Amino acid sequence: LEPAYQFMLRVRVPGGIATPEQWLVVDELADKYANGTIRLTTRQAFQLHGILKWDLKNTIREINHTLMDTLAACGDVNRNVMCNTNSYQSAVHTEVQKWAQEISDHLSPRTGAYHEIWLDKEKVVDSRDETETEPIYGATYLPRKFKIGIAVPPSNDIDVFSQDLGFIAIQEADELVGFNVSVGGGMGMTHGNSNTYPQLGRVIGFCTPDQVIAVAEQIVTIQRDYGNRSDRKKARFKYTIDARGIDWLKQTLHERLGWELKKPKDYQFENNGDGYGWVEGNGKWHFTLFIENGRVKDTDDYPLRTGLREIAKIHTGDFRLTPNQNLVIANVTKQKKDHIEQLIQTYKLTDGGQLSGLRRNSMACVALPTCALAMAESERYLPSLIEKIEAILQEAGLHQEEIVIRMSGCPNGCSRPALAEIAFIGKGPSKYNMYLGGSFTGERLSKLYRENIGEQEILDTLGPIINQYAKERLVGERFGDFVIRANYVEAVYSGLDFHR
Ligand code: SF4
Repeated sequence: LEPAYQFMLRVRVPGGIATPEQWLVVDELADKYANGTIRLTTRQAFQLHGILKWDLKNTIREINHTLMDTLAACGDVNRNVMCNTNSYQSAVHTEVQKWAQEISDHLSPRTGAYHEIWLDKEKVVDSRDETETEPIYGATYLPRKFKIGIAVPPSNDIDVFSQDLGFIAIQEADELVGFNVSVGGGMGMTHGNSNTYPQLGRVIGFCTPDQVIAVAEQIVTIQRDYGNRSDRKKARFKYTIDARGIDWLKQTLHERLGWELKKPKDYQFENNGDGYGWVEGNGKWHFTLFIENGRVKDTDDYPLRTGLREIAKIHTGDFRLTPNQNLVIANVTKQKKDHIEQLIQTYKLTDGGQLSGLRRNSMACVALPTCALAMAESERYLPSLIEKIEAILQEAGLHQEEIVIRMSGCPNGCSRPALAEIAFIGKGPSKYNMYLGGSFTGERLSKLYRENIGEQEILDTLGPIINQYAKERLVGERFGDFVIRANYVEAVYSGLDFHR
């Protein structure tokens, strides 16, 4: 007899696009093998929780039948390539999505082991060759996981500066002319170890679209060859760069490419969140649905999973998992729009715009009870904490004020808290470090303001700051900017200053 070990399974979804058929399969597997819920992640992937060990193989096989897989959704390789979800907005967005897919394909491991172990060597869906040679990863793969994302300004929804390698799409006269290249972002750190820190990616140059695969490949090989393999806590690409300097990185990259990146081009981000509701684009309709912390499940008064299942049954477009754990019902035809709107209403999938600006911009990682690394609650706790902060905001007349708030159950920072205007990172049961001062656009790190505090202290601390913000903010001034101007925290633009 063996204990009923439970596993989490992450399904890779490059750029976060899933067909209605794929949605229905994931939905079915959630009941058949998992805990009856689907989790949309901060990297635009699906997670299924509570899969028993003896069901793993069948789950992976059934996912593979849907043209999705779990290959490289974990491990020391390139992970799910993130991309702005609004690829319906313009031809440029569509083109950028294509590059995300190409980068993902190019950096996928070539190993046949995945198919041998999980698919009994049966090539259900895979066009890659079967050789065991790993042209990019070599025999030892990477020192740590590697994350890539593409942002399309003015939206920084993928938090491009949190990525090991980020691309910022540059448009001129409605044409994609190329990408600014950002390197060395990353959110994780270890409590009590100031040699570890979250870091912002730094923009090192510009490349044209046809150069983007070469840049991605060479950056990955630099990390493969120079990344720290003796201390896993210092193995991410940000530390490789910080140990040797950004000039070293640029020079090494240029040597490997055989040509140089050009000077970065101007761009401007306006936010790192999602807009909600219906928008029209490319002759179709698209509905962005707020899904609190990405958890798709049914409750008595909120049958979200059933509602989405009914939509998937009649939807002829696709679903887009956003980097903020929300969902776009995308590419809805004019003919289907009324029917989908009716289903949205029938299953009460929206609250008609009553959500506070804080909740609309909130994000929590999974944490307890399914993440073994969690030190404190996150997904199960943030909604109720927000309710209490909302009461303060309401009284201050700021209920609709958009403020980015994020919580993680441990310093790995899966919900990218170090970029939030208000952030909490779990320290122990019901205790959090509180950070302030990230920017609304994801371009500045937050800074520790209070350590190891519980709920009452959080509310007692935030209340006066929010009230002062309501009275003294400048026109258009964001909360994260205000706390810096009012001297609550210093502005942090480099991870090297994060603990200072
Ligand atoms: Fe788990 Fe930590 Fe990631 Fe939260 S931040 S999901 S607790 S590893």
